[in-house]
Amino acid sequence: MEEIGIDEILNKLDIFEKSYEIIRIVDPVMKKVLTNNKNPVPKLDFNCFDFWGNSKVCDNCISIRSYNDNKTYVKFEYTENSIFLVTAIPYEFNGRRVVIELLKDATDSLVLNINEDGLGEKSEIYELINNMNKGATRDPLTGLYNRRYINEKLPLDIINMLLSDHNLSVIMADIDFFKNVNDTYGHLAGDDVLKIFAQTLLGSISRSSDWIARYGGEEFLICLPGANQAVAIKIIEGMRKAVEDKEMIFGENKLKITASFGICSLKPTNLDSMESMIKMADEKLYLAKENGRNRIEY
Ligand code: GH3
Ligand code: MG
Ligand code: MG
Repeated sequence: MEEIGIDEILNKLDIFEKSYEIIRIVDPVMKKVLTNNKNPVPKLDFNCFDFWGNSKVCDNCISIRSYNDNKTYVKFEYTENSIFLVTAIPYEFNGRRVVIELLKDATDSLVLNINEDGLGEKSEIYELINNMNKGATRDPLTGLYNRRYINEKLPLDIINMLLSDHNLSVIMADIDFFKNVNDTYGHLAGDDVLKIFAQTLLGSISRSSDWIARYGGEEFLICLPGANQAVAIKIIEGMRKAVEDKEMIFGENKLKITASFGICSLKPTNLDSMESMIKMADEKLYLAKENGRNRIEY
């Protein structure tokens, strides 16, 4: 069978031209636009998130989700002046999966001009969209990223480290004896402890590329792209100390907790590194528990 080029796919999609302002084909793993229907075609290798005026990857990237799940997803996103309905459709060509993004300008559509409810202001609509997009990738209790975000963002950080030859540090953190907190003070207090713990962890990272997600229960994953082992140890030791020092007050009760941390810091060698890095960080965490808790292992 004759191989078709990426621009030919675009020609096949011209039936969408009437309904969508922008049709583009992206590589959601590398976050690159391969081609689009606008003339002049922007220089190759421009980032898909550039269109939104973002300097970094969209939190709620439906294209990588579409790529991973082989399903179509939709979301709203906005530029400085316009609101777009985005549809991401997986597409196989020449044995390679790419994603077709259809962008519909919805700025003046009836759906979004809900003036009677006071939602007509663009800033309010932007906030609504932000909240929707946040909801897809955040843990509702702590406000940190969720498990889905780990699966979608960690591979990208690994790729960036593969290309840049820098280290990536992945850390698993787990609250010590958290079951006792629930048993002694109740689950609601336990939930509050989780929220305060999450904020304490956030207070110890400073770079915009660093991020933290709730892995599950009282277990959290911290990702520090570009941090070598020495840097990671310093940051995580600061975190451990901040948690230990944090006094939590619930009515009459003053409560302090500690946490244990397992660090995996390395130069990833391939994309499979994700699972092995999490596994290694988990093993180190287990070691920190075994060796007495309230400590870090690497
Ligand atoms: P270790 O030091 O070995 O980690 O002990 P631990 O007690 O922290 O660990 P264990 O796994 O025995 O207990 C974890 C507890 O976390 C049990 C579970 O009920 C509680 N937990 C998990 N998710 C939540 C939550 O969302 N809210 C509350 N309040 N508790 C939770
Ligand atoms: Mg625990
Ligand atoms: Mg646990």
